[in-house]
Amino acid sequence: MGKPIIIDCMIRVVERNGKEHLIEGPKEVRAILRKLNILENTVLVVKGDELLTPDRMVEDGATIELIPVISGGMKCRVCGQTAVIAIPRHNAAFCKDHFLEFFKNQVTRAIKEHGMFRKKDRILVCVSGGKDSLVLWYVLTELGYNTTGLYINLGINDYSTTSKQKALKASEALKRELIIKEFHLEYGSIKAVARRGGRSDCSACGTVKRHYFNKVAIDEGFDVVATGHNLDDEAARLLGNLLRWQWEYLGRVTPVLEEARGLKKKVKPLCRLTEHEIATYAFLKGIDYIVEECPMSRHSTSLLYKEALNRIELQSPGTKHYFYQEYLRTGRKVFQDRLGTPVGVCSSCGMPTTERECSFCRLISRYLDSVKRPAATGSQ
Ligand code: AMP
Ligand code: ZN
Ligand code: ZN
Repeated sequence: MGKPIIIDCMIRVVERNGKEHLIEGPKEVRAILRKLNILENTVLVVKGDELLTPDRMVEDGATIELIPVISGGMKCRVCGQTAVIAIPRHNAAFCKDHFLEFFKNQVTRAIKEHGMFRKKDRILVCVSGGKDSLVLWYVLTELGYNTTGLYINLGINDYSTTSKQKALKASEALKRELIIKEFHLEYGSIKAVARRGGRSDCSACGTVKRHYFNKVAIDEGFDVVATGHNLDDEAARLLGNLLRWQWEYLGRVTPVLEEARGLKKKVKPLCRLTEHEIATYAFLKGIDYIVEECPMSRHSTSLLYKEALNRIELQSPGTKHYFYQEYLRTGRKVFQDRLGTPVGVCSSCGMPTTERECSFCRLISRYLDSVKRPAATGSQ
């Protein structure tokens, strides 16, 4: 059918219009685009689930896809210039400047609509080195909020080394402090802690992160903790919890968890924006982030839910946004009313818990018991 033969020792480049090219590798993304006479900032370059920046090396045998950010002939809704992004759920397209403005407006709207924080509040922005949390740190700082970054080093080999570098780079660029917690130096890699503590990698990682987010916010006197969760994350989580009718978890699907005894307020200011919009923002602003996914979360079911929602969205733009926003407006209250709040405090660290010890302290003490180290060495 006139299709080019795929040769293992070449890079296969697929364009959205069906055009395919074979290029000799290994080559930098930048060089591939130059060869095809394509301007770097007119396309997103994707390999599997990864978004590639122009400096990334592509090996022979790999397939990359080029997604135009300039939607054929579309004009900016505000100024009529050529658009760089189409946003079907808003029935709109924007040029670079008006997209950046739209993006900031969506963040401001989420902050106001859900009463997340005020200008005088001290915000602890949890940064993983990935696109969402770095974009969040940039936007909040640009909007004039008082931000400080928090990076938790969980000791996931090269992934942690690179992600920490990206967080440090952002801290320098923004001229804002980055608090770093070297969890792995104190206890060991999260993988070892999870295994010996009898928990799955992702569950242990979540427990450790939540513990530090709250502890650092309390110890350092922050008003609120902000994370980079986006519309795709939130809608996927809602769908996953609904499919299993997990009542307790459904009540916690919300862009704001109010401060409760011993628990700092937690907010998600990117909840109105999709991953694609966030990737586009990062790209247009030249924000350097770690593109690789966390190696421990590759098989996470949330990817399946995200994919399902994206398929529906393609056929019916706006569904994802409506699904989440209408849940917040109507269903959320029903589930929140059923939520219990932790009544006791942890006998080891003083954090709120429903049991004698909190989930973090239980994990750490099981881990320390198993490596036969005196528990005291783990305390601060
Ligand atoms: P994840 O649980 O990996 O989906 O990340 C959700 C959010 O948690 C991110 O958007 C960040 O705000 C925050 N986060 C994830 N990993 C870290 C980390 N190592 N240090 C600080 N914050 C993190
Ligand atoms: Zn415009
Ligand atoms: Zn505890």
